[in-house]
Amino acid sequence: MSALGRGICVHCRREADLTWDHVPPRAIFPGVAPSHLIEVPACFACNNGSSADDEEFRLMLSTRIHTDEHQVGRRALETALRGLARPQRRKRLHEILRNRKPSNLVSPSGVYIASGYAIPVDLPRLRMVVSRITTGLFWAETRRPLGTDYVTQETLLDYMLDVDEPNAMQALMSFASCPLKSVGNGAFRYRFGRDPNDADRTHWWMSFYDDAVAFIALTVDRAQYKAASEAAAIEQRPATPGGSS
Ligand SMILES: [Zn+2]
Repeated sequence: MSALGRGICVHCRREADLTWDHVPPRAIFPGVAPSHLIEVPACFACNNGSSADDEEFRLMLSTRIHTDEHQVGRRALETALRGLARPQRRKRLHEILRNRKPSNLVSPSGVYIASGYAIPVDLPRLRMVVSRITTGLFWAETRRPLGTDYVTQETLLDYMLDVDEPNAMQALMSFASCPLKSVGNGAFRYRFGRDPNDADRTHWWMSFYDDAVAFIALTVDRAQYKAASEAAAIEQRPATPGGSS
């Protein structure tokens, strides 16, 4: 991590001493050379305060069904499991073992896919990581931080769940015309589009390990975000590795 001097942090958008931060977090790309990853300027607090979140994010991504079919995903799973064996992660390991539920993965049309365990996921925490990826990618694509009046809005795209947020649904349909970009030997791929009338209104599709996990993220102004979240007070939905239980 090299010092960059004073500037605006792409995540919290405050003036600070900056260092390079990887988006998505480097933790999800074990074995990939850092030069193949995206770096953005971030303050020390945003850069270093999030490593526990990044570890949890890697655990959630890497324990999904199909992740191990991607070479980097397989390594991420091994690293995540080794991480869980550390003494300081013992509490989390016990929590997972205690709360896991045998679960059959069934498609929305009722076709059996696989059986495994559903483990509890800290969705708000995952959203925080996806939010940081979004603000980072915004800078990487535009070379400026997202406007301070704008916030991010994240949706986990689980094929077991319906996408019932109108904003996310609208964004999904518009991705076909956006170029596909690939990072870290294809472990992470994304598309983005922007509102022609508002350069800070953007929509992102993010996919990890060949679509083992995907998210949609939007950047919206605060007023719009408030209206949308009031309209969709449906937020709390189950989301577990390997499908919903
Ligand atoms: Zn910051």
